Amino acid sequence: MTAGPSPAAGLEQFIAGLPKAELHVHHVGSASPRIVAQLAARHPGSAVPEDPQTLAEYFTFRDFAHFIQVYLSVVDLVRDAEDVRLLTYEVARDMARQNIRYAELTVTPFSSVRRGIPAEAFVEAIEDARKAAESEFGTVLRWCFDIPGEAGLESAQVTADIAVDLAPEGLVSFGLGGPEIGVPRPQFKPYFDRARAAGLHSVPHAGETTGPQTIWDALRDLGAERIGHGTSATQDPALLAHLVEHGIALEVCPTSNIATRAVATLEEHPIRAMADAGVLVTVNSDDPPMFGTDLNTEYGVAARLLDLDTAGVADLARNAVTASFMDDATRRALSREIDAYTAGFGG
Ligand SMILES: [Zn+2]
Repeated sequence: MTAGPSPAAGLEQFIAGLPKAELHVHHVGSASPRIVAQLAARHPGSAVPEDPQTLAEYFTFRDFAHFIQVYLSVVDLVRDAEDVRLLTYEVARDMARQNIRYAELTVTPFSSVRRGIPAEAFVEAIEDARKAAESEFGTVLRWCFDIPGEAGLESAQVTADIAVDLAPEGLVSFGLGGPEIGVPRPQFKPYFDRARAAGLHSVPHAGETTGPQTIWDALRDLGAERIGHGTSATQDPALLAHLVEHGIALEVCPTSNIATRAVATLEEHPIRAMADAGVLVTVNSDDPPMFGTDLNTEYGVAARLLDLDTAGVADLARNAVTASFMDDATRRALSREIDAYTAGFGG
C-alpha cells in the first residue's frame, strides 16, 4: 500500500482540474504582471512599473481608494484597439490555464472611449479576441458592460449607448462598478431600464463597501439578477430571505474583499453565513492578479471557509453554471463536464 496525497493537496488538485465558470472578473483587473508588462512596454514612460517584481509591490493596496487609483493607472495603459485585443486574448489564455471554460468578463468601454478608442473599434477588438480565444483555448467569453460609477452619469449614458446601439454578439449583461460611497445606485435606473429593455441582464456591484440598503436599491431600482459582492447582505435577514426566494446569486470574491479592506480578515468573511442562509453563492476572483490570486485559489479559500470536500467544491462550480447567463447548449455541456470530472475523481 502506498500513502495517498494529503486531503488538502488532493483538494487543490481537484480544483485545478475542475472545469469552472467565472461570473465576476474584470477585464483590465485581470491583466497579470505578464500582460501589464507587455502593455507597459508598448507605452514607455507610463506610471506603471515594467518589471514584474516592482509591479507586485505596486499592486499592494492600502485601502479601497488606493486600489481604485492603481487600477486606473493600469486602465491608462489600454490606449488603442490593439491593446484591448491583446489584453482580452491574453486574459483568456490565463483563464484556460485554470480550466475556466466560461467567463462573463466585466469590461468598461467608457474608459477606453474616453481615451480616444472609437467604440466600434473597441467592440471589434474584444469580439475578435473572444472568437480567437474560444477556438484556440476553448474558453467561452461573454461580456458584462459596466458603468464606472465614479465617472458619473455621462459614463452611464455612454455605456448604455454602446451596449444597446452596437450590441456585440458576446454581450449578455449590464453592470455598475467603482466606489459605492457617494455613488447612489438609484440614479442609474434609466440606464439599466434601457439595457434591460434591450435584453441585457442586470448585474450591479452592491453592498461591498456599503450596507444592505445599497443591495435593496440595486434590486429594486436596477432590477439586479445577481449581486456583485453583496458582502453586507448578511447584516439583513430579510434581504437574505429575499435573495433566496428570488434565486438571486451573490458573486463572492473573498480575497478581493480582504485586499480592499471591505472585510477585515478571511475568518470574518460572511460567505459561510450566506451559504447557511441558503443563498446561491458563487466564487469569483474580481481582479485576480492585482489581489495576488486566481479563481483556483479562491475556490481553495472558499472550500476552507465552507468546510467543503470535492463534492462540495463541485457544487460551487455548479452554482456558477446555474447563476450564469450561458446559453442552454453551453450549460448542458459544462454541467456534463463537471459531473464527468467529479465522477472520474471518485467524488
Ligand atoms: Zn468587481
